[in-house]
Amino acid sequence: MWPVLQKDRGADEIHLYCLESPGEMPALPEEIEEAKEDSVSFHNGWGPKRILTEDGKVTGVEFKRCTSVFDADHRFAPKYDENDTIIVKADSVLLSVGQSIEWGGLLSGSRVELGRGGNAYADSLTLQTAEPDVFVGGDCFTGPKFAIHAIASGKEGAISIHRYVQPGQSLVFGRDRREYHAFDKNNIAIGIQDFDMTPRQRPGHSPEKKGTFQDERMTFTEEQLKKETERCLGCGTVEIDSYKCIGCGLCTTKCKFDAISLERTYDTVPNTYEKLPVKIATNAIVRTGKIAATTLKESVVTRS
Ligand SMILES: Cc1cc2nc3c(=O)[nH]c(=O)nc-3n(C[C@H](O)[C@H](O)[C@H](O)COP(=O)(O)OP(=O)(O)OC[C@H]3O[C@@H](n4cnc5c(N)ncnc54)[C@H](O)[C@@H]3O)c2cc1C
Repeated sequence: MWPVLQKDRGADEIHLYCLESPGEMPALPEEIEEAKEDSVSFHNGWGPKRILTEDGKVTGVEFKRCTSVFDADHRFAPKYDENDTIIVKADSVLLSVGQSIEWGGLLSGSRVELGRGGNAYADSLTLQTAEPDVFVGGDCFTGPKFAIHAIASGKEGAISIHRYVQPGQSLVFGRDRREYHAFDKNNIAIGIQDFDMTPRQRPGHSPEKKGTFQDERMTFTEEQLKKETERCLGCGTVEIDSYKCIGCGLCTTKCKFDAISLERTYDTVPNTYEKLPVKIATNAIVRTGKIAATTLKESVVTRS
């Protein structure tokens, strides 16, 4: 149960009690910050024991100390100290609860296996369940996540179903597992100035929406927008090795997206042989001598 919101009697403050410690709270830092700006006080490490009532109306909540929220495998398994309790007066209480799947009779008689919160077990690549012709995706497979994950798994599930109904097809052949590994930004062997170290821009807040349930965030200003777009990693950029590129422009004709263009950065005319600096001429003489010596040596070896 997370969080318990509660408004004190006679006070304008809103108190939020939750099981998690500040670092464990399932909320974005800006969400917590915005709530604090709206005079929400946070009380971490408390779980609801009972709601107190009088004449059919809520008068408060008794909380018990939550000693830990997750087990060793980071699964939600809250533990409490039942003797460490507090009673907080309140005239209204808002409960925010988790989400689980209600399958009803949909899976009756099937071999589909269910886990925590009623999520269906399935192969992570094919989304096939223990019942071969049942495929799952979205929240009923992953638990509460994001729309984009549900859409992606819907597409993968559709591919699996298509293959399943086509005789002789493999569910796994040529499938992309999409296993991405994030860079360790702190140990990356590129110049720190090249990497995305600039913090995200934060939107401003509209004061007139304060204290309402409307989104206070405003759009970026032009300056913020420019800064945000400059955070691009430039992963697609190619630097021309000016010692190798002869400026023929052939590369510009090969890119079908017209992404390559040449820009003249300076004008130069190469020196003629006669005008080469003396040092280069000396090197050329030494090199010519070495080639002549090697050629002579090889011809002597060949004759003998
Ligand atoms: C309050 C809230 C806010 C969220 N905010 C965001 C957000 O800002 N951004 C984001 O990306 N994600 C957000 N999410 C998560 C996102 O909504 C889900 O991850 C996504 O909708 C999951 O898609 P789904 O298709 O798996 O399930 P759902 O969208 O839940 O679709 C399941 C459908 O199945 C139907 N159904 C259920 N049982 C049966 C049955 N027995 N027979 C027939 N039909 C049935 C339901 O009516 C529903 O239409 C939010 C979720 C919640 C609850």
